[in-house]
Amino acid sequence: MGLLTPTVALRKVTEITPELLKEMGIDAILLDVDNTLAPPTEKTPYEGVQQWIDTIKNSGFAVVICSNNFHSRITPFSESVGLDCVAMSMKPFPIGFNRAKKKLHEKPKAVVVVGDQIYTDVLGANLAGMQSILLEPRSEEKGLTIWIRRKLEVGIRKKLYSDKT
Ligand SMILES: [Mg+2]
Repeated sequence: MGLLTPTVALRKVTEITPELLKEMGIDAILLDVDNTLAPPTEKTPYEGVQQWIDTIKNSGFAVVICSNNFHSRITPFSESVGLDCVAMSMKPFPIGFNRAKKKLHEKPKAVVVVGDQIYTDVLGANLAGMQSILLEPRSEEKGLTIWIRRKLEVGIRKKLYSDKT
């Protein structure tokens, strides 16, 4: 398994069930925001996401938001959905994941990183020795660096999702 391969590939965050997390042996989740929980720059999460967050929390999993976006974006969003957060986390480097782990009350046995980008979320998780769940990006994105990263993802995604189309 390479550094760019996620543990699991799904379409939407709401497809992640407590049963799947238990099967994976997970007790803590580090959650991306943009294109994972909400459209970039938008304050309202995708349909069903708030309910999903509440279900996962009520099922006993520790959840912290870990995003590369700025505090001004991530802090108010996290508060609105009832989660603690680390902004400017510098994924794929482990610095933000380590900060996020410190926010968890109990030391997690196994952490899963959930996000929509292979070169930040999945690569970061693999470098940190964590599991990962890759999602499909949900909204249109602007900017050169994201355009390049998405181009680099195409071949990998084709393989991962070929059995699901
Ligand atoms: Mg994202």
